[in-house]
Amino acid sequence: MLTPADAELLIAQHVQVLAGRAEPLARCVGRVLREDIFAERDQPPFDRVMMDGIAVDSAVLRAGSRSLPVEGLQAAGIPALTLASKNACIEVTTGAVLPQGCDAVIPVERIELVASEARIPPELAIAEWQHVHRRGSDRRQGDMLLAAGVRLGPAEVAIIAGAGKSQALISVPPVPMLVSTGDELVEPGMPILDHQIRRSNVYGMLAALQRHGFSEVSLDHVRDDAAVLRQQLAAHLQQHPVLLLSGGVSMGKLDFVPSVLEELGVRRVFHRIAQRPGKPLWFGVGDAGQLVFALPGNPVSTLVCLVRYVIPALWHALGLRQSVAESAALAEPVVVRDDTTTFVPARLESDDTGRLWAVPQSGNNSGDFTALAGTDGFIELPPGPQSYAKGFAARFYRW
Ligand code: AMP
Ligand code: MG
Repeated sequence: MLTPADAELLIAQHVQVLAGRAEPLARCVGRVLREDIFAERDQPPFDRVMMDGIAVDSAVLRAGSRSLPVEGLQAAGIPALTLASKNACIEVTTGAVLPQGCDAVIPVERIELVASEARIPPELAIAEWQHVHRRGSDRRQGDMLLAAGVRLGPAEVAIIAGAGKSQALISVPPVPMLVSTGDELVEPGMPILDHQIRRSNVYGMLAALQRHGFSEVSLDHVRDDAAVLRQQLAAHLQQHPVLLLSGGVSMGKLDFVPSVLEELGVRRVFHRIAQRPGKPLWFGVGDAGQLVFALPGNPVSTLVCLVRYVIPALWHALGLRQSVAESAALAEPVVVRDDTTTFVPARLESDDTGRLWAVPQSGNNSGDFTALAGTDGFIELPPGPQSYAKGFAARFYRW
C-alpha cells in the first residue's frame, strides 16, 4: 500500500496549475504571486538623507571647520539643491535627496543651529557618507525583487507597490464543491432521530478550507444511492475544478463513491494509503483535469486527509512554489504500529527556550471527533519503532 509520501507525490504529478488574474494590490495579501517583480529604479533611487539635520562636505569638517553658514533647506520631495560654498551646509529632512556637493549628514541633535549658522562640536567625528542611504545600495534597477510562486504577505505587497505596480498577477482560488454522502446524516438545526447522525464533518472541512485561504466553497449532500450519486456528481464535475467528497469510500455495501466516479470517467490515481486514520482515501482526476478527493467519512479521518493532502494540493494548483514544513517535538512517548503511518491529533505548546512541543491528544477512535477540541493539528509518525520517545521531532500539520 502507498505511504503518505507516495500519495503526496502522485497527487502532485496530477495537479495542474490554475490560471492567474491581475488584481489591485488591496486584494493581494495571502495570494500566490504569478509573475516575477523587478525593481523599477535603483533602490534607493537617489542618495537619500536618513536623518533630519544638515548636509555637509565632510572633508571641510575633517580639515577643522566647525561653524558653517546654512545656505537653505533641502526638504523631501524637491529636486537636489547644490551646495554653493564648500564651507557652508544645507539643512535637510529625512527622505530628502542629498544636496549636490555634500557627502555626509550630521543629525540635528548633535549640532547647534544659531541664526543661520550651524555649530558642530569640535570632538564630533564626521565620516564620509554617514547617515546617507546610497543610491542603488539595496537593489539595482531591473533586479528581481520577487519570484513567481511566493505567497504574498504585507512585506511583499509593499515591495510590489515600491516597484511601481498598482496590480499584480495572482492566482484565483478555485471554488471546491464539497459533497457529503450518507443516508444517516442530518443537517445541524434540523430535527434528528435516534438512529441518525449530524452532518458535522462538512462544517469542519469548510472551516479548514476557509482558514487555509479558500473562503468560497460550494456544498451539496447526496444519499447513498448510486443513480442519484451519478447524476449529481456528473453535474458537479462540469462546474468545479475540485470535488471533495466525504464518506462512501470504504468497503461497505453502500459505499458507491469509487465506482460511480470511475463510471463518470474520473481516473483513479490511488485508493487507500497505509495510514491511520484515513486509510480509505481515494484520489482521481477527471477528463478535464478536475481533482477529485473522496475522503473517508469518519470525522477525524476526513479532517486529517483534508489537511494532509487536499489543502497542499490546492496550494500547489495556485502555483505556490514552496510550502513551509513545520515540526514539533513530542511532549510524551507515543506508541505506533509498525505497518502504517500514524497521525496523532496534538496541541502545541512552546517552552521558554522557544522549543515547540506537540502534546498528543488520545481520542477513542477516528469517529471520536469531540476529542479534537483544543488541538492545533496533528503529528505524523512514520511506521517504525514501536514507541517514539519524548523529544522526537515530528512533522506537524495545523488544522
Ligand atoms: P463512511 O465513510 O461513509 O463509511 O462513514 C464512516 C463514518 O463516518 C460513519 O459512522 C458515518 O456516519 C460517519 N460520517 C460520514 N459522513 C459524515 C459527516 N458528513 N458528518 C459526520 N459523520 C459522518
Ligand atoms: Mg457512508
